[in-house]
Amino acid sequence: MNPLRLQLLPTKCQDCQPALCCTYWGMNMLTPSCPEDYDDFLWYVLHQGVTLFKNGEDWYLKVDARCEQLGKDDLCQIYDRRPRICREYDPQECDKDAPAPADQEFSSFDQLEQWCLENVPGFPPNRES
Ligand code: SF4
Ligand code: SF4
Repeated sequence: MNPLRLQLLPTKCQDCQPALCCTYWGMNMLTPSCPEDYDDFLWYVLHQGVTLFKNGEDWYLKVDARCEQLGKDDLCQIYDRRPRICREYDPQECDKDAPAPADQEFSSFDQLEQWCLENVPGFPPNRES
C-alpha cells in the first residue's frame, strides 16, 4: 500500500481497507405491489452477492461487487477522475459505522420465497407458463 496516498484519505477511511464503500453498490427498489413483483425479487436474490433489505415498506438492493478501479493496494486508481457518486459520498455518514437499518434481509431464494408464502397474499403467482 502506498503510505503517501493513504495519508490523503480521511482518518476514518485510512482504517477502512479495503474501502467498504468501493466493494458494493445498491439502489432503492420500487415497493412491490403484487405477487408478480415479489416473484421478480426472487430472481434478484438468485444471483451471487445480491441481498435485498426490507425496512417497513421500503426495499433496497445491494450487490457485493468490488469496483474495478479499487487497486491491489486498496486505493482508488482514478481518484482525480472518480464519478460524482464517489465524490459526494460522505465518510461521516457512511456504512462503516452506521449501516442502513433494515427490518429484514434476504440473500437466498428459499429464504425470500418462504417469507413471501407467509406474508404476500396471492403468492406464488401463476407459474404454469
Ligand atoms: S467512506 Fe466509509 S466505507 Fe468508505 S472508505 Fe471511508 S470509512 Fe470506509
Ligand atoms: S471509482 Fe474509486 S472511489 Fe469510486 S468506487 Fe471505484 S475505487 Fe471507489
